[in-house]
Amino acid sequence: MKIARYKKAQKTLSFYRNNFGFREPYQILIDATFCQTALIFQISIKDQIPKYFQAETILVTTQCIILEAESLGAKVQGATNIVKQFLVHKCGHEKAPKNGIACIKSMIKNNRYVIATQDRELQDYLRKKPGQPIMYLHKKTPVLEQPSELSRKTVEFKLNESFKFGTADEKKLVAIKKSEGIPVAERDAQPKLKKKKKKQPNPLSCKKKKKKPGSSAAPKKASIDSIQDKTIGKKKRKRVKVPTHIKEILQSDK
Ligand SMILES: [Zn+2]
Repeated sequence: MKIARYKKAQKTLSFYRNNFGFREPYQILIDATFCQTALIFQISIKDQIPKYFQAETILVTTQCIILEAESLGAKVQGATNIVKQFLVHKCGHEKAPKNGIACIKSMIKNNRYVIATQDRELQDYLRKKPGQPIMYLHKKTPVLEQPSELSRKTVEFKLNESFKFGTADEKKLVAIKKSEGIPVAERDAQPKLKKKKKKQPNPLSCKKKKKKPGSSAAPKKASIDSIQDKTIGKKKRKRVKVPTHIKEILQSDK
């Protein structure tokens, strides 16, 4: 069970890595609600998160989050103590602190952080932001939520656009799609190839067209055709492949 859980997390991480530029060490922005739940279920965030990600992680928070936790007083003192242990990233609200949710909302613009929160309202908000990873605690268990429908759709759209305009290596994109478990429709994978196949016969069809106006350009063929017309008759006329030695005989007869 545990291994399956780690694998799932790895798959989700690689989705964000490949499509939204997330890189190791992963920065986990943690709020006080997450710390409070960790405290209730007595898990160590510092131990469990890197273990769950199986990667280097940096646990961060903001001054706004710390100040809000402090303002709630003794009832969340334990959570406040935990959140204070993390690296404090600048959020730009140093002069006028915001509440934790507003602060986090302002921190997600550049897709830099995995947001670790138990706040349902904030989670719902984050799900509407393409490429925004969310994690929470399910009792004792850390869970990196699978990419939202919107994130997946955004990636699909980007890939399709790339196919349309040919701006990226198709094979690479299809490989990424497959590795991320995104279904690759045959239509997505092959439109260009099909077009190429259609383009190849074009020169042949050009030759056919040349026949009518270009009789002077191909006098040998024209003469053979005219002979065939006379002998076979127009209605029953079929294309017959004339061997070169017969062609020569026909030419000399003329
Ligand atoms: Zn802030």
